[in-house]
Amino acid sequence: MSRLLIVSNRLPVTVTREEGDFIVGPSVGGLATGLKGPHERSGALWIGWPGDLPRLSKEERAVLEERLAAVGTAPVYLTQAEVRRYYEGFANGVLWPLFHYLIDKVQPDAGENWLAYTEANQRFAEAVAAHYRRGDAIWVHDYQLALVPVLLRQILPEARIGFFLHIPFPSSDVFRVLPWRTEILEGILGADLVGFHTYSYLRHFSRTINLILRREVTGNRLQYSNREIRFGVFPMGIDAQHFERMAESGPVRDEVASIREDLGGRKLLLGIDRLDYTKGLPHRIMAVDRLIEREPSLRGKIRFVQVVVPSRTKVESYRNYRQELDGLVGRVNSRHATIQSVLIHYLYHSISQEQLVAFYRAADVMLVTPLRDGMNLVAKEFVATRTDDSGVLVLSEFAGAASELAEALQVNPYDTEATATAILAALSMSEEERRARMQALRRRVATYDSYRWAESFLAALDAARPRTATRAGRVSSPQTLARVAEQLRGAWGRVLLLDYDGTLVPYATSPQLAAPDAELLDLLKALAVHPRTVVHLISGRPPEVIQRWFGSLPITLHAEHGFWSRFYPGGWWLPLHAEAPGWKEKVGSILNEALRTTPGSFLEEKTAAMAWHYGMADPEFGERQAAELTRRLLRDLKELGVDLVPGNKVLEVRMAGTHKGVIAERIGLEPADGMGVLAMGDHRTDEELFAVLPPGSITVHVGSRPSKAAYRVSGPAEARALLRMLLDERAESTMERAETQGQEVGSEGQAEVRE
Ligand code: UDP
Repeated sequence: MSRLLIVSNRLPVTVTREEGDFIVGPSVGGLATGLKGPHERSGALWIGWPGDLPRLSKEERAVLEERLAAVGTAPVYLTQAEVRRYYEGFANGVLWPLFHYLIDKVQPDAGENWLAYTEANQRFAEAVAAHYRRGDAIWVHDYQLALVPVLLRQILPEARIGFFLHIPFPSSDVFRVLPWRTEILEGILGADLVGFHTYSYLRHFSRTINLILRREVTGNRLQYSNREIRFGVFPMGIDAQHFERMAESGPVRDEVASIREDLGGRKLLLGIDRLDYTKGLPHRIMAVDRLIEREPSLRGKIRFVQVVVPSRTKVESYRNYRQELDGLVGRVNSRHATIQSVLIHYLYHSISQEQLVAFYRAADVMLVTPLRDGMNLVAKEFVATRTDDSGVLVLSEFAGAASELAEALQVNPYDTEATATAILAALSMSEEERRARMQALRRRVATYDSYRWAESFLAALDAARPRTATRAGRVSSPQTLARVAEQLRGAWGRVLLLDYDGTLVPYATSPQLAAPDAELLDLLKALAVHPRTVVHLISGRPPEVIQRWFGSLPITLHAEHGFWSRFYPGGWWLPLHAEAPGWKEKVGSILNEALRTTPGSFLEEKTAAMAWHYGMADPEFGERQAAELTRRLLRDLKELGVDLVPGNKVLEVRMAGTHKGVIAERIGLEPADGMGVLAMGDHRTDEELFAVLPPGSITVHVGSRPSKAAYRVSGPAEARALLRMLLDERAESTMERAETQGQEVGSEGQAEVRE
């Protein structure tokens, strides 16, 4: 039976030791609650670090593992040194501040900790793989384990893997400062489904992929490493019913009454946070300070209770932050204290859930004003407890929760004056407005709760399965390719029609950089002198470049998509037809406009075509400008007598009627017995050639674009390998051997077309 494997840094249990035995109890927390349902269903297994335990003997480990297994969990052991470097050093010392936009808090010189991070992630991946059974779904959580998806993918290529990021994904300009940015991105992209709390994080992630990996995210999908990866927005909720029930319970009611009595008619402002520099505590304290300065009449009439839960006490920046906070609270309190009352009640310790709910319930105004927060569950918990439809939530617009909780009073926490104004508005809000806002908030928090969150992620992960396994876009198996090679070798003669860029060499950011290497020149030469083999090299480039690179080879060269052809070394370059007069001025002026307004782009002028390249421009801006230019050109295409050919980061405008398909006619390619025809290409322009080839021709698409080609290889290296097999039977046997050793066998025959 297929199960769910949940993977997170910490297990959702607390382990205590009593007289040589281990007591494993549940621990409360957002993740544990959210995943309770799926965890309890169908024998799911939760894999993670069980927390700091002294060095355990083999026997002790066995006992512990048995106890853990009884509650559906399995441990990944980490030494204290590993925790210090992987968890405190890298995850919390580098990724945490960076993802929360606090670059100055990022620990410098983290190279060693990065190494520990990769090792720990490897350990988690291996632990998961050890428990994995065919058909299981794996759900990996959060920034501590960003490399686990790709590491797992290497061990389990067919597994269904989801990844959820619980913290913000920052703007690409912030993320790119990370020296290990590519590794982290590729790590996450090992998953089939990547989830975020908000669309804003998803957008940042897509843009970063575009900028750093130079890959296009279409809709919420990315074609990467021969797989389709999906992205989605799943805002995490809380167990709303649990909080509602607690709020109505007797002990909480008693506690609320006692808090109210203690307040003696004062209004209660409440803050509850982990001690973390992302929570904006100094800004909040200063806003309250400013409020009293502006409204001295409030002095003695309000009390601000700030609960701060100790956290990450071993990380230096957290210790410094605590000192800063202590000083600030002292200063503000001394300024506003009266004989009867102190403004800020600052509690530096955790509180029981009963007390927590009582505080929520007793508060007049809840202050949730982080500088940056992935979601913030405190805001939602506060709302859920307010079954009395009272209380006002002041919420930072930089908390993920803000994207759902529109009826809160949203503030920019960096704007002290505005925050003070919002607190004042909250204190003086009419009962009617308070009720209306809270009812709307409560409905939403109750509907989109933690159970719904987990279910919708898992449903999306389930839906991601067939897509990743479709044959579309998958490469042909080594066995199939070996058969293709054999067929061609066995033919009486061979015609090879080979596209250059993207087919025989990878794309370079600038076309000048994609010159052929010696190995490729040798391969083409060997094919050309192979008995009864004719090689045609087909390119969109101008004839001068093709001549310079391939002029001495005994092969036929076609430039500008077939407008120019050269049939033998030393021969003339012959045009397809005469150039139409005047078209270039008109097209040129339009393309020049795009050139001027798109930094990094450039124009390439050919005989029968002009091309505007934008691969070196900012990727997003380049696409935008390309869309603009396409619109402009499409309007006048007929009148200009040209065709528009969008390419890989290039828009080419060429005289109507020139395309790679004309080559087949020009070289007199006709169905002939015993003649093997092989055409390889990576681009839409190559499809024009594929479409007119005689029946029985072999078409091969290089890469992952939609194609009508019968076969598919993943890139130029694989395309060359296929060509080598035409020369060398041994190459084939190497491939077959690899296969019999258990390599994956992909699709065969017609590659599916997807647009
Ligand atoms: N919380 C707690 N102990 C306390 C006070 C609060 O466990 O003494 C809980 C609180 O109920 C909430 C969580 O800590 O579920 C804080 O989650 P949030 O998303 O607000 O912030 P994070 O700590 O994840 O940054």
